[in-house]
Amino acid sequence: MKPSPVSRRQFLKSATVASLASYGGLSGKVPADPSQGAVGQNWAESFTYGAARFHQPETIDELRKVVRRSRRVKALGGRHSFSRIADTDADMIGTSQFNRLIGLDAKNRTVSVGAGMKYGELAKLLHKEGFAVHNLASLPHIQVGGAVATATHGSGDGNGNLATQVRGLELVTAEGEITRLKRGDGNFEGAVAHLGALGLITNVTLDIVPAFDVRQYVYIGLSPDQLMANFDAIYSTAYSVSVFTDWQSDPGLTAIWLKHKVAGERFHAPVEMFGAKRADRHVHPIVTYDAEVCTPQMGVVGPWYNRLPHFLMEFRPSTAAELQSEFFVSRRHAKAGIRELHGLRGELAEVLQISEIRTVKGDDLWMSTAYGEDQVAFHFTWIKDWPRVRAALAHVEKKLEPLGARPHWGKLTTMRPEALRARYPKLPEFRGLVAQLDPSGKFHNDYLKKYVFG
Ligand SMILES: Cc1cc2nc3c(=O)[nH]c(=O)nc-3n(C[C@H](O)[C@H](O)[C@H](O)COP(=O)(O)OP(=O)(O)OC[C@H]3O[C@@H](n4cnc5c(N)ncnc54)[C@H](O)[C@@H]3O)c2cc1C
Repeated sequence: MKPSPVSRRQFLKSATVASLASYGGLSGKVPADPSQGAVGQNWAESFTYGAARFHQPETIDELRKVVRRSRRVKALGGRHSFSRIADTDADMIGTSQFNRLIGLDAKNRTVSVGAGMKYGELAKLLHKEGFAVHNLASLPHIQVGGAVATATHGSGDGNGNLATQVRGLELVTAEGEITRLKRGDGNFEGAVAHLGALGLITNVTLDIVPAFDVRQYVYIGLSPDQLMANFDAIYSTAYSVSVFTDWQSDPGLTAIWLKHKVAGERFHAPVEMFGAKRADRHVHPIVTYDAEVCTPQMGVVGPWYNRLPHFLMEFRPSTAAELQSEFFVSRRHAKAGIRELHGLRGELAEVLQISEIRTVKGDDLWMSTAYGEDQVAFHFTWIKDWPRVRAALAHVEKKLEPLGARPHWGKLTTMRPEALRARYPKLPEFRGLVAQLDPSGKFHNDYLKKYVFG
């Protein structure tokens, strides 16, 4: 007999690792256990990095030396990717030491930081000076360099992903040379969402905006019919909107998360919206979980960095025992995507912890998952059981592939590499740029060979 949604959730909850203890991310942690290789595991502890050697240079000159001497080398950011995009069997360079503020230019509205800085650190520093970045991902623990490499995103009809904040980059290329690129330079659009294929990013210059406050509200009990009938209306309700759902027919656990900018958006939170009721307590994206790890809701005004992510910096985010996948589909196909996924509720019931549906503004970054068109992003937090997840993922991909789905670079997919490559019209130009900056393929790895170089 299938468990009911609530009892299934209770089961999943009891299966998660320990309690959500105080958490600062794993960057830079060197494993004590030699069976975990030179580098250790990714955040989800779903794989061990295969690198033979782990370097943690303190200065750019040391970093250049490692790059120059290595035959093959990869950068490691905050370890939050579920895919093996950062992995290598050769040299790996941890970048978390490059986490300093380089300069804040209030007049030109930019901040330059080391690529190893976490968004949580960047946010505090910016807020003190009265500034913000326009959007954040669901968690503040990831590093700027890793996030822009994979086109990490938040939500919002008018919000591009985090890579679109990049105004300039400094990178160490294959021969240990320093290259700088800024918006407006030829090839810049190819160099931002770079998948770690161009070199070691040392510094990133980002667009900033004046700091702003946000009120967050959650509405619980959205039915699939209401979601499909009112998709545009729901997503235009606030600056950033997410819908969390388990795709089951019972609308009881499907929730709309609204993040309103306090200035510039007039909003009076009604008691009911699209058939969903305003929550009278703080909730977790998985409604039956403890909300202690989540950013405050119920309309309590707070700074942008403490409301745009769903999870607080001080805690281990999300559910801790999980795998993740995500697919980007042209916004034109949002309703078709929802219909298809809702039709898969039987296949998803036992393996899915929660899905999140977000919108992302289209951009012109060649390898960005939002290249060319506004997107709807269908995210899946799975149980940590790869054989069962792989089977469910095949069903999801079969439904979303015909809609032109692009998988998230940092999450899990079983999509055919040729199908994935066909989604990127600028792939030939990107390969040309890689060949120019890294002619010997020093920054290639198995993941890039499979999905990018073919
Ligand atoms: C709990 C959780 C929640 C998440 N939420 C979101 C979300 O809301 N939105 C979303 O889009 N994604 C989300 N992700 C995915 C995550 O944002 C991406 O996988 C991101 O790439 C992780 O960044 P990282 O710093 O951990 O980089 P890593 O995973 O360590 O590396 C990612 C890539 O960047 C490269 N890289 C890192 N630093 C450098 C550098 N200095 N120079 C060159 N290359 C570099 C690596 O080589 C690799 O190719 C989530 C992941 C987790 C675990």
